Amino acid sequence: MNYHPVPDCSHKKAYETEARAEQVARHQEQKTPGLSLRVYYCDGCGMHHLTSRPLMW
Ligand SMILES: [Zn+2]
Repeated sequence: MNYHPVPDCSHKKAYETEARAEQVARHQEQKTPGLSLRVYYCDGCGMHHLTSRPLMW
């Protein structure tokens, strides 16, 4: 099974602004102890996504 370096973001939640994405990330972190979310800008759709793998990008 091959994984492409550019993620398919069609299944992901996308946020128009970084601030909004951060807001959601902090909220989810509070609900899930130990979870660490990071916001990143996506060239694919021009929006922001959250990732739980902070070292990957
Ligand atoms: Zn995207």
